[in-house]
Amino acid sequence: KLYNEVQDLKGNIRVYCRVRPFLPGNDGNITIINPSKNGKEGHKSFTFNKVFGPSATQEEIYSDTQPLIRSVLDGFNVCIFAYGQTGSGKTYTMTGPRDITEQSQGVNYRALSDLFQLSERRKDTITYHIAVQMIEIYNEQVRDLLVSDGIRNSSQKGLNVPNASLVPVSSTSEVIELMNIGQRNRAVGATALNDRSSRSHSCLTVHVQGREVASGAVLRGCMHLVDLAGSERVLKSEVTGERMKEAQHINRSLSALGDVIAALAQKNSHVPYRNSKLTQLLQDSLTLMFVHVSPEQDAAGETISTLKFAERVS
Ligand code: ADP
Ligand code: MG
Repeated sequence: KLYNEVQDLKGNIRVYCRVRPFLPGNDGNITIINPSKNGKEGHKSFTFNKVFGPSATQEEIYSDTQPLIRSVLDGFNVCIFAYGQTGSGKTYTMTGPRDITEQSQGVNYRALSDLFQLSERRKDTITYHIAVQMIEIYNEQVRDLLVSDGIRNSSQKGLNVPNASLVPVSSTSEVIELMNIGQRNRAVGATALNDRSSRSHSCLTVHVQGREVASGAVLRGCMHLVDLAGSERVLKSEVTGERMKEAQHINRSLSALGDVIAALAQKNSHVPYRNSKLTQLLQDSLTLMFVHVSPEQDAAGETISTLKFAERVS
């Protein structure tokens, strides 16, 4: 039964690792080599709840995520993060490639369409209302991605992300429309040279409220789907001014995230949620982190630091 599966997950952090395939024009074998001090090549292994190789499909990725998403309809809070250096496939996992087909749809679309389907199936016993928010966290500031001209502005305000518009939705196509609007708003202010999307966190939050037809009892669940800023370390010598500030904010919020997840994984009684905007979302959530790595040899340094981050939290 679903509940048992959810109970297993509760309090637990799941970490899945996904290795993206080589991109057209690149080729090679995937080995992660950690040069040891004496100049010899050493191998280090890392353990995760699951590892998805380059041939894993979007459907396979989602099918292991599904139980968690279904639990939102039972009133649980869920957080799904995509972590990794820029170009490692975070957006691919969460959303999909640039031109999305049904097959290449990411976790976001599949999760939403599942939520609608399941809620429809349960409608004789529970009536569900679903609403979404989309925000961007940039330099510790939260920007509402669903506010701009031409968007219906809901007067209702969100619970977890105060002051961001909460838009009621009743079908997957409505959500897709909103996600497109959010994407466009996100791109505003970004130029080709200054693509902000890799240096901000974006978060799609789905609020679910269910009312039991017989008893009138109300349950609430919510799900945060987070495409994190690129985790690459920025060389201090290479950045100044704005870039430096961005890099520091990203570092700080990703390490705050690491601290929270590590505390949860170790079942510490004190979990430092309050340390960043990002970690405030995690409170009382079942958490799944997709850790992404690139297969290219020249990414090896970042790959190792990504895997170390993930090992710390799993
Ligand atoms: P990130 O969001 O981490 O910066 P992207 O998701 O944009 O990375 O991925 C970088 C490029 O690699 C994109 O062109 C994307 O379509 C492609 N890509 C990423 N993961 C996969 C995958 N699993 N299969 C095929 N192409 C992928
Ligand atoms: Mg991206």
